[in-house]
Amino acid sequence: MSGSQSYDVIVVGAGAIGCAVGRELADDHEVLVVDKGSVGAGASGMAAGLTAPTLFSYASPAVAEHANEFMQEFSGTEGFEYHARPRMELIYPEDEDVARDQADEMASYGFPVSFVDADEVATRHPLLEMDRFGGAIEIADAGFVDDTYVYTRALARDAENRGAEFLTGVEIVDVATAGGAVVGVETHDRTLEAPHVVIATGWRTRALLADIVDIPTRPFLLQAATVSLDHEVGSEFPLGRVPAESVYFRPQTDGQLRLGGGEYLIDDPSTFAERMGDSGSVEERMHESGRTAQEVVNNGIDEEFRERLTRVAPLFVKELSSPSAVELTAGWGDVDGATADGEPIIDAPVDAPDGLVIATGFNGLGITKSPVAAAGVRAILTGEEAPFALDQFALDRLSGSVEFSLQDTFAMGRQ
Ligand SMILES: Cc1cc2nc3c(=O)[nH]c(=O)nc-3n(C[C@H](O)[C@H](O)[C@H](O)COP(=O)(O)OP(=O)(O)OC[C@H]3O[C@@H](n4cnc5c(N)ncnc54)[C@H](O)[C@@H]3O)c2cc1C
Repeated sequence: MSGSQSYDVIVVGAGAIGCAVGRELADDHEVLVVDKGSVGAGASGMAAGLTAPTLFSYASPAVAEHANEFMQEFSGTEGFEYHARPRMELIYPEDEDVARDQADEMASYGFPVSFVDADEVATRHPLLEMDRFGGAIEIADAGFVDDTYVYTRALARDAENRGAEFLTGVEIVDVATAGGAVVGVETHDRTLEAPHVVIATGWRTRALLADIVDIPTRPFLLQAATVSLDHEVGSEFPLGRVPAESVYFRPQTDGQLRLGGGEYLIDDPSTFAERMGDSGSVEERMHESGRTAQEVVNNGIDEEFRERLTRVAPLFVKELSSPSAVELTAGWGDVDGATADGEPIIDAPVDAPDGLVIATGFNGLGITKSPVAAAGVRAILTGEEAPFALDQFALDRLSGSVEFSLQDTFAMGRQ
């Protein structure tokens, strides 16, 4: 980056959101993406990698369709591969009626969703133990990203291929404004100039913009782990959840099983931050071990989550006969931002300086919704029509209070 250059757009934060936004704008804008750490070193590099736009956005079909299509189209770019796979929500008999209604509702929006009886699930997925369950909601158009660090870096490389520049190891301490409009961002020792600034700094956005606009998000912890299996889960193993037990699962491409959940609000997220450390060493260790970035970082899970995983895994994995058979070979966690309604903020708020766009509060679904952030920010900055309605992500839909509890994304199937 040359010292005095100014840009059309500066994107702050090189997670999945900032990289997807930078990539989306790079073809026809001079784009700089700045991160205080390195690309993918925040929550984006630590995610479990399930994508299920239909499950989480079916009531906004255009959102779900856009996110689904992007993963298919981007697969094969810069080392990234998307694995399309059906998603099975395993339902206890007492929740079956509600689950059937939910499957019908999702299907009514045109998505490939149905309720499948337990016998049929067991026949199609022989590694799933279905004895305790009444059946499953099958969402056919789901999938997973095996390593979200690789996904985030692929977005960044593709953004660079399209002309975006990246500046890492540089913290942005403020947004520079003049006459009510953005003129750039402040680092500790200089101003980087641009008439448009996109803030995509994850859970840290609220503090960064505290003097400019109130962002009602709360930090929360998410955790995931790898379970070692003798019989590798192959291409027939689906992804899914046991919603009543607050645990989700997916196969890994190395044949092991990945489990996730363990989500709760935390007051002081700084202890969970900076986990990824030196990305060079992470990549070296990934290369040496053949494991994902998340498994290499392996920064631990709490005891409650560990106990939950060892109790729940034998309930639905045929090979695991008891909790003592559950061997966790890696466990990790990181922080994301929550909003009161579980939807992100993708907006240029009216109260903020002109030229400021915010993309934050992805509620544990930022990998899934990264294409939505990219298309939304592009529409806001260019005035082009977005592929979906933007008002559902507007800041002013939220009351401004942070006195809310975490949306329970596992609630589906047991209400
Ligand atoms: C264990 C776990 C499992 C998950 N599982 C899934 C899943 O299965 N599916 C899914 O869709 N999502 C999942 N998520 C959620 C997903 O990871 C997040 O929603 C997403 O990564 C948020 O992306 P982001 O770019 O907003 O934030 P981040 O990835 O945190 O990126 C923000 C970036 O901003 C940078 N930054 C912050 N402040 C500054 C500053 N002042 N100056 C410069 N740079 C700054 C940071 O260094 C960081 O790189 C999971 C998350 C975790 C932790």
